Amino acid sequence: MRDAFGRDITYLRIAITDRCNLRCIYCMPEEGVEFKPHSDILSYEEIERVVRAAVPLGISKIRVTGGEPLVRKGVAGFIGRLKRIPGIAEVALTTNGVLLPRLGPALKEAGLDRVNISLDSLKPERYAEITRGGDLSKVLQGIDLALEFGFKPVKLNVVVVRGFNDDEVLDFVELAKNKEVHVRFIEFMSIGASRTWKNRGYVNSSELLGKLTLQDELLTAMPEEEVSVVGNGPAKYYKIKDGLGTIGFISPVSNHFCADCNRMRLTADGKLRPCLLSDRYVDIKTALRSGADHKGLQDLFRRAVFNKPQEKEIDQNMAEPQVTDEAAYMSQIGG
Ligand code: SAM
Ligand code: SF4
Repeated sequence: MRDAFGRDITYLRIAITDRCNLRCIYCMPEEGVEFKPHSDILSYEEIERVVRAAVPLGISKIRVTGGEPLVRKGVAGFIGRLKRIPGIAEVALTTNGVLLPRLGPALKEAGLDRVNISLDSLKPERYAEITRGGDLSKVLQGIDLALEFGFKPVKLNVVVVRGFNDDEVLDFVELAKNKEVHVRFIEFMSIGASRTWKNRGYVNSSELLGKLTLQDELLTAMPEEEVSVVGNGPAKYYKIKDGLGTIGFISPVSNHFCADCNRMRLTADGKLRPCLLSDRYVDIKTALRSGADHKGLQDLFRRAVFNKPQEKEIDQNMAEPQVTDEAAYMSQIGG
């Protein structure tokens, strides 16, 4: 379905939990984070009802996220159920990769199409610092297994923070040269838990690309038709000379990709959010639990879509964060 500004809404990101086995500095506070009680989290059955209502309205692609989606019990079975819904063309997952070695085979068997793995540093101590205790070797193993299991394409999400990991950009390019992975450099957004990190600057994608193109003929911009094979996100992709993978740039801070935004978000506690960078939401959990039928859910979905702002409403451009509602952490909204 089209929103009030003519954008075709086809993509739903579902956070299935607000919990996580890591504590990335920019995403969650170290301590004191209040997780929602289980009774506040949508059951898999409830989420499936929302998806079944959304499909006839035009949703065909789903991304399962969190928190860390792989910490929720039964995630592979749930993905299998989503895959069997007629009209769902693709189910993807965003994960920190730590549990992929254990859950990868079940996810593959369930029909999961592809995975995005978040990895902000290739240096073990630095990785442990940004994730507050994560083990880099597990994620690297997760990436290799994701490739072995045949999830395609495997994308890596790298949040670039000035003065923290911007010196590793070439190492990531090297990784994408040697493995068939699609590295996406994401501009760090100063929202959520990152407010404690707000003095850390983001690195503008054009600045990063500028540095990389200084390396002789290292990168070639990919034509639009080829990019659509890689995914439908708001990234610009480049081929690497003699490389297996690609690199891309996601620029939520410096670039307005709002005009092409095709997505809605469902939080773990049942809020339909039309935009990551806006406080607007429609409460679908209350409706689910007070007897709303298929058509009632569709009306709420439509209402959320019509509420999609034309542009982001929170200025994350290193200004004072303005997120005001309680879902202020990325782990709660789903990234
Ligand atoms: N736990 C999973 C993971 O880390 O991939 C899924 C949830 S996580 C919230 C989704 C994505 O949001 C990750 O790639 C993470 O790096 C990104 N993210 C979280 N906080 C961010 C911020 N302040 N700026 C930019 N990206 C952020
Ligand atoms: Fe967890 Fe992902 Fe947030 Fe890191 S970015 S704390 S892995 S939810």
